[in-house]
Amino acid sequence: MQNLNIVPFVSVDNMMKLVLHLGPERVMTDLATYIEADFRRWESFDKTPRVASHSAVGVIELMPTSDGEMYGFKYVNGHPKNTREGLQTVTAFGLLAEVNTGYPILLTEMTILTALRTAAMSALAAKHLAPEGATTMAMIGNGAQAEFQALAFKALCGISRVRLYDIDPAATAKCTRNLAGSGLTLTACTSAEEAMEGAGIVTTCTADKQNAMILTDNMVGAGVHINAVGGDCPGKTELHRDILLRSAIFVEYPPQTRIEGEIQQLAPDHPVTELWQVITGAAKGRSDARQITLFDSVGFAIEDFSALRYVHDQLKSLPYSEPLDMIADPDDPRDLYGMLLRAKAKAA
Ligand code: NAD
Repeated sequence: MQNLNIVPFVSVDNMMKLVLHLGPERVMTDLATYIEADFRRWESFDKTPRVASHSAVGVIELMPTSDGEMYGFKYVNGHPKNTREGLQTVTAFGLLAEVNTGYPILLTEMTILTALRTAAMSALAAKHLAPEGATTMAMIGNGAQAEFQALAFKALCGISRVRLYDIDPAATAKCTRNLAGSGLTLTACTSAEEAMEGAGIVTTCTADKQNAMILTDNMVGAGVHINAVGGDCPGKTELHRDILLRSAIFVEYPPQTRIEGEIQQLAPDHPVTELWQVITGAAKGRSDARQITLFDSVGFAIEDFSALRYVHDQLKSLPYSEPLDMIADPDDPRDLYGMLLRAKAKAA
């Protein structure tokens, strides 16, 4: 029998080994498959908007869900000012547990995993929403998430050209360097408008705790798919409201997106389509070539659950974890204090 007191732990080092062993594009393609499978059984999950603790400088959130067999949660922060202090905007870790015993079965870093799952989710949404034959993407915001987004769109949507823009040219230079040799044709642009030239897909992935105007209405032409990733918190949006009024809007979980997404700018009853219904075929994705589609991404707990499930499955055949002595294990389950006394006697 598996020793339930020892929990497999995936460190940052082991996560990098796992991703490099399989290849980032394969991991994101696999993650999209896992997310798609879980979105198809959407109704079997416990769902709640994430539990957010806001401060003037950022947010710390817990994202729980369960399918009745397994329970998962992610701890994640969002602190746009962190990069100025040499820290990341987003960091995360997560846990998967067995519902039957309540015992954890996986503890893992999720900073890298979040970037992978967010990009996989974006590309999965675009597969259903982007205009047919789109091969160029504008990537506005070239920070930590950007390369993952570019590679997921290459692997899952056939994007071959990425036009990069960031207010900080150093971020664009970093992105260009990191994606050299990826097979993508990269163009560094000096404005968001320039980045959008000829792009069928526009990804916004900036970090600023304000109602930003990364895209204004005049910048968005007919038929474009917008993948809006950066607006994911109350008071933190990227798109001008008029764009939302012209778009068919697709979301993960409305009760959360109405608080955190671009649609916080709209009336609470403004119509949106839930992506899981597009995936099951119950709702329509893009309806015509001229429609502007918007994936108002905020990141939902089921995507992290899928990612945790994926890592757990990979560890069945790959060695990238270490045993963590995480659950107290007294010989007699009711003698927890006695375990402490025996440890004291042993140490004396
Ligand atoms: P980051 O801080 O590493 O990068 C953000 C980049 O945006 C920086 O390079 C910054 O210079 C640039 N930027 C800021 N304002 C800009 C502007 N007006 N025009 C162009 N570029 C601008 O952050 P990150 O980890 O890449 O995350 C980006 C955003 O995505 C954050 O807001 C984060 O909260 C959000 N996010 C969302 C999800 C999701 O599931 N939707 C998941 C992860 C991160």
